[in-house]
Amino acid sequence: MTKKYQVLDASAFIGEFSAEDALNYTVPEVSEELKDFKSRFLMESLIKAGKLLMEEPDEEDLQEVESTIKSSGDNLRLSSTDKKLLGLALTIKKRYGKVKVITDDYSMQNVLKIWKIPFKSILTPGIQEIFTWKKICQGCKKEFPETYPDAECDICGSKIYKKRFKSV
Ligand SMILES: [Zn+2]
Repeated sequence: MTKKYQVLDASAFIGEFSAEDALNYTVPEVSEELKDFKSRFLMESLIKAGKLLMEEPDEEDLQEVESTIKSSGDNLRLSSTDKKLLGLALTIKKRYGKVKVITDDYSMQNVLKIWKIPFKSILTPGIQEIFTWKKICQGCKKEFPETYPDAECDICGSKIYKKRFKSV
């Protein structure tokens, strides 16, 4: 069986994720974000068990993070810890050819999607589930389901357009 490699942000520890057989990585700054006893205890236990390693991302991977988030618009929503975790994901992927990131942060997930790096949420449903589409009438603002087949409103005859809604 091939080994799994994961990069963890604070939500993995707070949400008490299960390490199973994976080798896990995080950056030292994440330990400062863990305020409660349970999440700190989980981090300590994983380190003692040899299942969690603290690492710094490669410099070139941090630069890759900066250039990606400048064009995706996520640069203002990411903390320096988030950026280091994203950089570390690139570093680990380079080393082993694969990695999965455990994070509840939507901006981090957005960057990971751009890079096609898989991720998993612990506490929240994840970015794929936070948006739904609806159709809206331009005239009377009536809402239709996404599957509504007509291009015009059945009340006022105005055009219908598609809109993305946050479902949480
Ligand atoms: Zn209408």
